[in-house]
Amino acid sequence: MNPNPPQQRKNEPNKFRPPVAPSPGGYQQTGSPAFAQTPNQYIGTPSQLASPTQEQGYFPPQPPSAQQNEPDMNNLTSQMGAVGLGVDGAGQQRTHKKKDRHAYHNIEGPGGSSQAFNGMPQSGTPTQFLNQNTPQMGGAQWASPQITPAMSQFPAAAPMFSPSNPASNMQHATRTGTPMTGSAASSSQGRVDPEHIPSVPRSRDVPAKYYLEHVYPTMEHHLPPPALVPFVAYDQGNSSPKFARLTLNNIPASAEALASTALPLGLILQPLAPLQEGEPAIPVLDFGETGPPRCRRCRAYINPFMTFRSGGNKFVCNMCTFPNDVSPEYFAPTDPSGVRVDRMQRPELTLGTVDFMVPKEYWSKEPVGLRWLFLIDVSAESVNRGFLDGFCEGIINTLYSGDKDTPEDGEDIKRRIPPGSKVGIITYDKEIHFYNLSAGLDHAQMLVMTDLEEPFVPLSEGLFVDPYESKAVITSLLTQLPQMFSEIKNPEPSLLPVLNSAVSALKATGGKIVCSLGALPTWGPGRLFLRDDGNMHNTDAEKKLLTTEHPGYRKVATQMVESGVGIDFFMAAPSGGYLDIATIGHVSAMSGGEVYYYPNFHSPRDTLKLSNEIQHTVTRETGYQALMKVRCSNGLQVSAYHGNFYHHTFGADLEFGVIDADKAIGVMFSYDGKLDPKLDAHFQSALLYTTASGERRVRCSNIVASVSEGAAEAMKFVDQDAVVSIIAKEAAARVTEKNVKDIRAALTEKTVDILAGYRKNFTGNNPPGQLVLPENLKEFSMYILGLLKSRTFKGGKEPSDRRVHDVRMIKSMGPLELSLYLYPRIIAIHSLDEKDGFANENGHLRMPEGVRASFSKVEEGGAYLVDNGQMCILWLHSQVSPNLLEDLFGEGHASLKQLDAFSSSLPVLETHLNAQVRNILQYLQTNRGSKALTLQLARQGLDGAEYEFARLLYEDRNNEAQSYVDWLVHVHRHIQLELAGQRKKENDDSLSSTASTFVGLRTPYWG
Ligand SMILES: [Zn+2]
Repeated sequence: MNPNPPQQRKNEPNKFRPPVAPSPGGYQQTGSPAFAQTPNQYIGTPSQLASPTQEQGYFPPQPPSAQQNEPDMNNLTSQMGAVGLGVDGAGQQRTHKKKDRHAYHNIEGPGGSSQAFNGMPQSGTPTQFLNQNTPQMGGAQWASPQITPAMSQFPAAAPMFSPSNPASNMQHATRTGTPMTGSAASSSQGRVDPEHIPSVPRSRDVPAKYYLEHVYPTMEHHLPPPALVPFVAYDQGNSSPKFARLTLNNIPASAEALASTALPLGLILQPLAPLQEGEPAIPVLDFGETGPPRCRRCRAYINPFMTFRSGGNKFVCNMCTFPNDVSPEYFAPTDPSGVRVDRMQRPELTLGTVDFMVPKEYWSKEPVGLRWLFLIDVSAESVNRGFLDGFCEGIINTLYSGDKDTPEDGEDIKRRIPPGSKVGIITYDKEIHFYNLSAGLDHAQMLVMTDLEEPFVPLSEGLFVDPYESKAVITSLLTQLPQMFSEIKNPEPSLLPVLNSAVSALKATGGKIVCSLGALPTWGPGRLFLRDDGNMHNTDAEKKLLTTEHPGYRKVATQMVESGVGIDFFMAAPSGGYLDIATIGHVSAMSGGEVYYYPNFHSPRDTLKLSNEIQHTVTRETGYQALMKVRCSNGLQVSAYHGNFYHHTFGADLEFGVIDADKAIGVMFSYDGKLDPKLDAHFQSALLYTTASGERRVRCSNIVASVSEGAAEAMKFVDQDAVVSIIAKEAAARVTEKNVKDIRAALTEKTVDILAGYRKNFTGNNPPGQLVLPENLKEFSMYILGLLKSRTFKGGKEPSDRRVHDVRMIKSMGPLELSLYLYPRIIAIHSLDEKDGFANENGHLRMPEGVRASFSKVEEGGAYLVDNGQMCILWLHSQVSPNLLEDLFGEGHASLKQLDAFSSSLPVLETHLNAQVRNILQYLQTNRGSKALTLQLARQGLDGAEYEFARLLYEDRNNEAQSYVDWLVHVHRHIQLELAGQRKKENDDSLSSTASTFVGLRTPYWG
């Protein structure tokens, strides 16, 4: 077979679009073929896909007025009394910007007229593209009013709702409350103006507007959009930040220079991250039996930064500089500038992220379509609380919603899981019940296993079936289960034996388990006990509650990973009871799965969320039997990994039973020498996995950073979301070793270290009393405060189940979900503009601005959506207008008491406001992590969820921690002590101290 060019998978039209091949004129002039097929989601709005017209390239000219949109931080000193607050002026006065831009363009090779390929290394010498770029400072330039034709689309899955009864101006007016004269969050000294401290909502809203109208070109811009901002990435050889984010996009040459910043050098990887509408699918490349070309020395995969020489006979590895021979099948001549003549036809040489099909050497077992095995708790508590009902309904909705009952001839069934993947069902209480689901049967056959000590799988056929062939058998079984077991009601479930059975059933193929559990499993082998009596917080005993020593659960976790199996749990504690998530969830955490936790499951309110989350779990991109390796250029080495996976020795590959679109991994690097500032630093992650449809592939992501002698440049290209993610994941990893209190102290120290390091080394002539924040880390302190107040690390009593759940969640969540978790998105719906929540003239949803998370921002009569990615609260002030309630919930709902406390969604009404809010909710649903968005009502003075609302107002004093203003005052005081040489660290063991003690071992792998 001649893999030249690589086979592009013809049977999967959506998996591959023509390679991105910008003409020498740059994509800006030619339009981007990659986006040409973007569907427009909004009915009635024309698809605007003309090319953007940024004459100067990556940033539109900045009008002088733009800067006024950003509060002038430097003038705040006087307002803030002793506590000056400034943001480094670098980046605000940018008189040389235009010149820099030209300097940047000039780096192109011969013939690069204006843009060429935007800094892509095209010849044998790696190009220094980053150092010459204009720093992309947050804030001001986002506000540029320059409009280019629409490229990106807000990612809505469904058409917009539109009201048949638009509201009049008068009606709008009746909903708007008057501002409350409540107390603002104030410092202990009462001098800090809370209006002028960096605003997280603003740091999201402004770039979100910008990226509605602009793409993110991955080579030209070196500071990714904030993680929460939807954007369309244009892959120019550097991976999209959706897959890979470096903490520093410019790396200091030495460990000493990095230490002066106190910042971690790390990479956040989310290898199967979802793409947004408007982004081309990741191409799948097949090089046949030889597999993708790789460096003979370090085994790095071919990528856009490998260079060709000797007329195309050699390729030089960008990681280790080894000159490899090009195999005859892969040979193509190079042009006079050293670029392969076929480069533009080869996605592996132009794109930062690609999938390679891999041959047999990469298999440990024959890849098959993913086996989904549902383990369903049918014991008494689960039946009584409606959890069993909800779980069965969720599976039916997942597999068959949108499916026609009787597909007409020639019409394909709408498959929710890909062809080749199969489904099996096991139920359990104190026994295990297997089901033969074969399509030929009238109904499922149950086989009961009563031997819990050594359970085996009593079925050889019919356990796993195609859910569309066996639809009748499966739906009838799932519909009958709640009724069947309501007559049996065994009070105690026995979990460990069923997990062992599930592993046996999947041993040959690997697969994914989805398991429900409605009570503490207190029966049979591996039974668990109430460990948390609620009195151990802030003691050494608390640490033990957050981990498990249980040999049975530890063993089954390891067996799962070895067999290529992972598990998601859906755990309901109907009476708020203890479930020992530390022990049970360990199995998910090790195997790459996830725990969905319903602490006070109440079926009328929570069934919708349960059902939507089962659906999400099964339909999101999932790979199994996965291994991961991260490589980096000479001079750097991996020092630590953080996330949920199995890692038996340092230096070995990370192992995942399963991995899905929502999972992220943090990787830390240390120096094993000095970097050459003339060369770039390269990173490559390679995830070997089997797709749900049964293909063995490697998802390869490449990311590059420039190198500078000192750290000043690094501060300009620091990625706040990546820094916060690395710090949060590392802190979460410490929970089993350290008291939560010590971790909080270490997080505070780290915050002071970073900001003091900046103050000491990189600021010029600011007055000594001024708190100076790096432009790109302006909201960093607030996010860390959010982390300190989160369930993961907050002070005071917190049930160990909730804490350990959140600890593991932080370790595995991506930067987008983390951003929301650390600072919720709050939207005032009583004061929406009449155009908010509808498409603008370019077809983009117009979102209202976010509200700061402080009660001082809450208006009398107001109604707010508060979304932290885990739950979405609809908070209603006691004086909310009856008109608003009726517009939102319908006639007969004019007062808070008339609302149903357990409603979890809005009714579909034809009022203006109802359509607006449903559109906004739809937007929020598409822009979050793994949790479904359903509403939870918090009516002032009526509902318990009000406490959650208060807890999430992270700028206020709550969760046993300071207000945002007080926190800044505290941090500032410690920075001043540090500058004066008088700081005493509360905790000597700073978070990153051990990271560099590991020695990275580079091992060749995968043949
Ligand atoms: Zn190499």
